[in-house]
Amino acid sequence: MLEGRCISCGRGLVEEGCTQFPCPECGYIIKRCNICRSQSAKYKCPECGFEGP
Ligand SMILES: [Zn+2]
Ligand SMILES: [Zn+2]
Repeated sequence: MLEGRCISCGRGLVEEGCTQFPCPECGYIIKRCNICRSQSAKYKCPECGFEGP
C-alpha cells in the first residue's frame, strides 16, 4: 500500500497494482491506482502540466 491518492481519480492507493513514479519532466511523484493504470487513463502532472499515458 502506498501513501497518497491517485492523481487521476482521487482514490486511495490501497489496492495491489498501484504505482508511483517521477514525472519525466519535473520529477514530481505521480501516483496512480490500479484501476486507472489498467485502463491506461491519461495523467497530468499537477506541477508542470505534463500529460502522459
Ligand atoms: Zn485512479
Ligand atoms: Zn511534472
